[in-house]
Amino acid sequence: MTHENAHSAQNKQSPLVSGIAVDVLVCGGGMAGTMAAVAAARGGASVLLVERWGFLGGSATAGAVGQFVGWETAAGRQVIQGLAEEVVQRLERQGGSGGHTHFTMSTGHRMDQVSFDPERLKLVLDQMATEAGVRLLFHATLLDVARQGDAVSAVTVLTKAGPLEVRPRIAIDASGDLDLLARAGAGFLPLEADEAPQPATMMFRFGPIDFSRFEALTSAELQALCRQGVDSGALARAALHQSRVPGTDDGWFNISRVSLDATDPFALSAGEVEGRRQAFAAAGFLAARVPGCEGGRLVALAAQLGIRESRRVRGDVVLTADDLRGERRFPDAIAVGAYPMDIHPARGTGLHFETLGGDRSYEIPFRCLLPAGLGNVLVAGRGISASHGAHASTRVMPTTMAIGQAAGTAAALACAGNGGPRELDAALLRDRLRQDAAFLPD
Ligand SMILES: Cc1cc2nc3c(=O)[nH]c(=O)nc-3n(C[C@H](O)[C@H](O)[C@H](O)COP(=O)(O)OP(=O)(O)OC[C@H]3O[C@@H](n4cnc5c(N)ncnc54)[C@H](O)[C@@H]3O)c2cc1C
Repeated sequence: MTHENAHSAQNKQSPLVSGIAVDVLVCGGGMAGTMAAVAAARGGASVLLVERWGFLGGSATAGAVGQFVGWETAAGRQVIQGLAEEVVQRLERQGGSGGHTHFTMSTGHRMDQVSFDPERLKLVLDQMATEAGVRLLFHATLLDVARQGDAVSAVTVLTKAGPLEVRPRIAIDASGDLDLLARAGAGFLPLEADEAPQPATMMFRFGPIDFSRFEALTSAELQALCRQGVDSGALARAALHQSRVPGTDDGWFNISRVSLDATDPFALSAGEVEGRRQAFAAAGFLAARVPGCEGGRLVALAAQLGIRESRRVRGDVVLTADDLRGERRFPDAIAVGAYPMDIHPARGTGLHFETLGGDRSYEIPFRCLLPAGLGNVLVAGRGISASHGAHASTRVMPTTMAIGQAAGTAAALACAGNGGPRELDAALLRDRLRQDAAFLPD
């Protein structure tokens, strides 16, 4: 082949464009999507995971949210295990986390926490996905969805080589914003009159910090500093909350706040600009005013604004705040959560934080993962069918990982049984999850 012929061959449409068929397509490789893909592949399904970034983790890596919280009841009983716990153990073995710890919040709540290095997490998730046999397609964005009746028959993604049509038996929307479901025409839950989506945050890494002095600040001193920061316009949130990067003197700070509709592309773009502005303003305040931070500077920004809340699907069941408060049991429970309802208000600098208290926990039914009116689609992650209040608890990463494991396990079982997710025997799904070390009470 001459040089010119080779060149024109490269310009022809890639063979990718002819499309591929898979058992399970996972759209979005955040913590929920990655766990869903791993569970489905370990369950014997052929799995394609489509992710717009060049790495897995979503908010945990691209958003640089450097801590998993919400493993335990307030009394200290661990209710999230399974694949999520495997992630922690792998991180620990590779020096990417010190494992489970606790700290006391200004509200008095004893928070459980696993701090981790987002860069090491990328590697751990690569390893889990590739070892399980998940086929990864990075730098690929959802483009279109075709339906036949109540089934998603094809999903087109835009890749470096052009559009690729994927024909899945089951699709799992783990894109956080539920882009696949939006294009499939699914219904979403509205906000009540007194509700607004939780604001986004641009995480930033700051250091070095003299942690012996920073952590010695009393609650009163911290509150006075936060007040100064808010009054001077340097802080959008009355907090100096950070998670230390294991093995370093740096922390990832979670102290900016941008209210937006993350599904509006122009609002999202303006939000990235505003997030960076706020991050630099807050870093300047840290260096100028906060004991222990005098020698530090902003070392890195997250690759993207962290989105707390956008679309929530209308599923066969809607989990509510009262279900959490009342510890409601469900026969098709696939995960247990215990994290407080943690609402960052769209306006204002404070936090609404409602703990379940004591040894209380709640259950998440499988029906919250089933979009009403769609037969071969599951939701994993922060977009499950939950009210604004319930979502404020289910959105944390240990819970989204447990939901992801359940979605992937269900998809593999459905493929093996030739039925749809809605026809699955909940008892079979629960047994399989328990066999795979997920925590589910009898
Ligand atoms: C600032 C902030 C602080 C938080 N603090 C904590 C905390 O301390 N501890 C904790 O446990 N939780 C925390 N949370 C909550 C938690 O991080 C998220 O709710 C959780 O990570 C959501 O996981 P997910 O997998 O559902 O979605 P995401 O992490 O949003 O993942 C979605 C994935 O889909 C990809 N994607 C999206 N659209 C497309 C598309 N169209 N095509 C292809 N790919 C797509 C994205 O790139 C991403 O990888 C915080 C959240 C934020 C934003």
